[in-house]
Amino acid sequence: MNLPIPEHRLSDAYRIDRLTAEFLFPETEWAFRRSIREVWVRQTRTAMVIAALFYLMFVFTDWVVMRGSPDYYLVMLNRFSVSLIGLTVAYFARPLWRQMVNGAAPTLVVGFGMIGFVWKAMLVPLEFGIHGMGMMAMLLGVYVFVPNRFLNALVVSLVASAGFLLVAMFHFNLAVGQILTLIALLVVTNILGAMVTWRTSMSMRIAFCDQAVLMAANERLEREAGERLRLEAELRHRADHDETTGVANRAAFFEAAGLLLAESEAEGRPLSLLLVDVDYFKQLNGTYGHLRGDDVLRALVAVCREVLRRPHYLARFGGEEFVVMLPETALAEAATVAEQLRTECQRTPVAIAEVAIHFTISAGVAQRHPSEPLNALLRRADEAVFAAKYKGRNRVEAVA
Ligand code: GH3
Ligand code: MG
Ligand code: MG
Repeated sequence: MNLPIPEHRLSDAYRIDRLTAEFLFPETEWAFRRSIREVWVRQTRTAMVIAALFYLMFVFTDWVVMRGSPDYYLVMLNRFSVSLIGLTVAYFARPLWRQMVNGAAPTLVVGFGMIGFVWKAMLVPLEFGIHGMGMMAMLLGVYVFVPNRFLNALVVSLVASAGFLLVAMFHFNLAVGQILTLIALLVVTNILGAMVTWRTSMSMRIAFCDQAVLMAANERLEREAGERLRLEAELRHRADHDETTGVANRAAFFEAAGLLLAESEAEGRPLSLLLVDVDYFKQLNGTYGHLRGDDVLRALVAVCREVLRRPHYLARFGGEEFVVMLPETALAEAATVAEQLRTECQRTPVAIAEVAIHFTISAGVAQRHPSEPLNALLRRADEAVFAAKYKGRNRVEAVA
């Protein structure tokens, strides 16, 4: 639907013309008609079938009144053809739904039915009052059952009323007093019928507005809720991840490390910790620039992701220093992992344009002593890094 989102149901796109009892904005009107298409088709079908069968039913009363008269067959022809048209419209209501809801088909059929009715009234020799009652029923039927479009129903009913009045005056030669009474009755019937149709038309459209407003409000809420969830997730991610490399940050590390330590302690399994520091990083920054320095950090993280496996936990500890927790891993195995990292970094220069930036790392490995606090473990690993630096860098030192 191409409709503007309504702020409330009195917004311009949802204005209802009080004369036609339809939306002023054609797109809205068609959206409304589409929305109740099924109901409309069903109602038209029911109305047409009922009207056709009722109209046909009177062949029996006609028989009682007109038995043997040649006009009887004319009336029968009249009743069968009017009914047939009604039933045909009922049958094609679905494929012709646009005609149904824009009022053309029902209006034509009703108009035709009215002509048939007035002609039939001239043929059946009954009290005029009885024809009058039939006419009232026809008019109310039009208003009640074919309220697709208020103006159509009104126009077809008024024209039929006028036709019926002419027949009353010139075919039945009613006296002035009777004519005036007939006029009054026709006016009352049309007013009552028009009110019913107008109100139905208005209230269906008002209900449509209310629903559209609710749906728009609901959509807005859903969109906002979705956006809030996305923002929350983003904030959470930012809060515990490092922006440059995308790995967990220092705060997230301390939180995760606490859990991992408690877990390994409870299960009585070994746990090792690895500190990795880029060698001569200040120099790299100085030579290639800070941005290239960031690329080196990302390259290091890429290597870590290659080498490390679950449940290894990698975080940026600060600056060019990274920390890896290795649950279920004893010192020798942790040292092997560190060695893999070191050789991979050495083998994998960062290629930027024509330049290949070679970098190396020094790593310190420590296995946690039973009940050792995290800080003490970190300190020992840091000392191991320091030893590696001291011994010339690009190496792994493990402390027992
Ligand atoms: P060493 O071999 O002894 O480790 O020497 P180093 O130069 O790597 O160590 P140092 O601690 O002296 O220098 C670390 C440098 O890392 C200093 C700082 O400017 C740089 N640095 C810290 N954080 C970042 C960052 O996010 N991006 C970049 N490009 N540089 C950073
Ligand atoms: Mg450092
Ligand atoms: Mg360094």
